[in-house]
Amino acid sequence: MIPIGRQYISENDISAVEKVLRSDFLTQGNVVSHFEDSVAQYCGSSFGIAVNSATSALHISCMALDLKKGDYLWTTPNTFVASANCALYCNANVDFVDINPSTYNMCINNLEKKLEQAKINDRLPKIVIPVHYAGQPCEMKKIFELSQIYGFKIIEDASHAIGAIDFSENTKTELKNIKDLRSYKIGSCKYSDLTVFSFHPVKIITTGEGGMIVTNKERLADRLKRLRTHGITRDKSIMKKRNTNEIWNYQQIELGYNYRMTEIQAALGLSQLEKIDEFINKRHKIAVLYSKYLKDLPIILPLQRKNTFSSFHLYPIRINRNFVNIEKKELYNYLLENEIGVNIHYIPVHMQPFYEAMGFKKGQFPESESFYHDMISLPIYYQLNQKEQEYICSKIRKFFKTLI
Ligand SMILES: *Cc1c(COP(=O)(O)O)cnc(C)c1O
Repeated sequence: MIPIGRQYISENDISAVEKVLRSDFLTQGNVVSHFEDSVAQYCGSSFGIAVNSATSALHISCMALDLKKGDYLWTTPNTFVASANCALYCNANVDFVDINPSTYNMCINNLEKKLEQAKINDRLPKIVIPVHYAGQPCEMKKIFELSQIYGFKIIEDASHAIGAIDFSENTKTELKNIKDLRSYKIGSCKYSDLTVFSFHPVKIITTGEGGMIVTNKERLADRLKRLRTHGITRDKSIMKKRNTNEIWNYQQIELGYNYRMTEIQAALGLSQLEKIDEFINKRHKIAVLYSKYLKDLPIILPLQRKNTFSSFHLYPIRINRNFVNIEKKELYNYLLENEIGVNIHYIPVHMQPFYEAMGFKKGQFPESESFYHDMISLPIYYQLNQKEQEYICSKIRKFFKTLI
């Protein structure tokens, strides 16, 4: 079976982990902070806060931005459930903004219209979470401009998009002078408060389980560090005054969690980070080959917005309804029968039984539903070789040949 995604672990990764295992600290040493600094540096932001998953990262990000009961959080339906669940952890309400049918990311026009309506109904969101679907950057500058008008905070769910770059907002003359693309990287937080990454094994780099928040706001970084460890602080300046005869070397001043990353995970992450550009370049090579082999079939290939560089976490293809009328399930089953590990990204979140029970209905976000109806994700990962890609594409061609 060719899997849809797979981690790549080198001998260096293994030695890095082994070194920690032989050291004094398995958790709460200095490897985690080294990993945090390295990721922040890589994507051009000031602070990194490592946690045990992107789901935890999204949860405490919402807490740090004071999301509470009665508040609204908006995200896209075309995402993993975690992008929406984080609102519910804070007892807040979730709503969705439908996608743009070409980029599959949150549609700016829909967002703007929904904001106008929400203002009239006095239900403006406190937080908006755009998701860089498949690694393709969202139109962050436009979302940021709307946040300035309507007063919401922004958390980028960049679980797919570490290493992605967006320099679409810059003029050509500026572009010539770019030696260092860091300030254009996803995670630079130029147009957001916080950005969240996932290091699950199917993502671009892995720590087994793990996630990180990056930000340029020191106050938020401090709060996030506290929230990932029970709400405990060791900072005297923010501790509550107590009897001076007692020893108060730490205080819990709010309710947090144990969302810490281990030293073992951070060591793996640091070692993986050294290969990130190689990983992403390989993903681009795979994408180029797919587009070459599949270009004349009745399928829509993933679009690259001008002057953006996707990290290609996913390679979604979409059946082109102008040319064929088949059940997606037939193609999906055919590929699985031929040992090709395809998957669906995503069943729109509002159609999940849990969300339907909250009152969401099929038909509410038609672009996301239509994309879901027609899309399949093809295998894409570092070690996928040309032979395997040729095999995958020959099977897809064969499937369509029987139809046309
Ligand atoms: C993978 C993923 C998450 C959750 O990541 P974990 O690290 O597994 O918690 C959240 N959002 C999106 C878009 C994802 O793809």
